[in-house]
Amino acid sequence: MAAIHERLGLVPVINASGTMTTLGASRGVAEAREAVAAILGEFVDMAALQKRASRAIAEATGAEAGFVTSSSASAMTLGVAAAMTGSDPAAIARLPDAAGMKNEVVVQAGHLIDFGAPVGQMIALAGARVVSAGTTAGVSRAALDTAFGAGTAAAMFVISHHVEAPGQADLATFIAVAHGHGVPVIVDMASEYDLTGAIAMGADLVIWSAHKFLGGPTAGIVAGRRELVRAAYLQSRGIGRAMKVGKEGVAGAIGALEAWGRRDHAAEKAREDAIVAGWMAALAGVPGLVLRVLPDWTGNPIDRVEVTVGAGAGLHAWELADRLAARDPSIRVRDDLLAAGVIHLDPCNLDAREAALVSDAIGEEVAGALSRRDGLRENLAAHEAARLAAALRFPD
Ligand SMILES: *Cc1c(COP(=O)(O)O)cnc(C)c1O
Repeated sequence: MAAIHERLGLVPVINASGTMTTLGASRGVAEAREAVAAILGEFVDMAALQKRASRAIAEATGAEAGFVTSSSASAMTLGVAAAMTGSDPAAIARLPDAAGMKNEVVVQAGHLIDFGAPVGQMIALAGARVVSAGTTAGVSRAALDTAFGAGTAAAMFVISHHVEAPGQADLATFIAVAHGHGVPVIVDMASEYDLTGAIAMGADLVIWSAHKFLGGPTAGIVAGRRELVRAAYLQSRGIGRAMKVGKEGVAGAIGALEAWGRRDHAAEKAREDAIVAGWMAALAGVPGLVLRVLPDWTGNPIDRVEVTVGAGAGLHAWELADRLAARDPSIRVRDDLLAAGVIHLDPCNLDAREAALVSDAIGEEVAGALSRRDGLRENLAAHEAARLAAALRFPD
């Protein structure tokens, strides 16, 4: 990792956070890196390359067809656009002006999450309008049913650890209701390992990120019914041009997807489990920390260490996260539940040496805060305000 960081003058990062866009997502697998490097210096007929991608995606997912986008976020926009325009070139050229088209997209209230940007905004980008079904406290079948109307173009279902709302309809119910109204279902499961389940259940368009668990370059993978895939692909003549994927993204995504089928998933899980066990042992004696092994709550085969940072550690969870990030190399922990005083350690992107550096650093930061008594100073609101202020100073 050192050479490119040194050349660009960047602090190396040890990623104990998981596949995060803000950290460069994942380590590319060899097959993806090779494909990216091999095609970057060549010309290629992009339509032929996307047809080849369609075959690889169909093979991996069981769908009729597929193509590669610049990201899952853009795939959400393009999927909605496809449901609005079909393959009509004139309609494609008119977007985001949706005059004369069905333009409502039904989404359960609890699925309107922020994955780094809001789901609803990706839908609105196509010229569509979100119709929220039910509430974040629950969605009855009747509430879902009444959200559909004459103007409904599509329904979107989100599978993500960001979805925390209880009582949302499950995918089978969602598909049954949408199809009952003759409306196609788009499933955003960008970060979920299961490549076949949603297609098998009858979802019309399913979206994954190539750069997350697959270890590909930044790209989105779209699989689904042939006509809807075609209509989404054809948006490249319109709004999709602003979301262009390059040859390296398509070729790299194919490489990562084909490698996925050959990878030794049991060996990778065993490697991750050994890291988690190592953390549990190494952190057991650190004062103020309560440890627990936490299985991924959307069912991905990942166990993480949940670290609840108590006052006995001499610093707040967010202070610990900040101090780890400020080190060189910078250690990044999973921080979406800081408000609950919790950090998570994710083993997916680490080797054993890096994993040991993470637990050593946590022990050092806690010991340092206790001996210097310089923790428990910044409240959560001040921490969040400081983070936002730093982001708004770009590029300094
Ligand atoms: C990561 C993620 C996205 C965004 O994916 P990109 O490919 O980075 O645009 C969208 N939805 C969910 C549920 C995600 O996890």
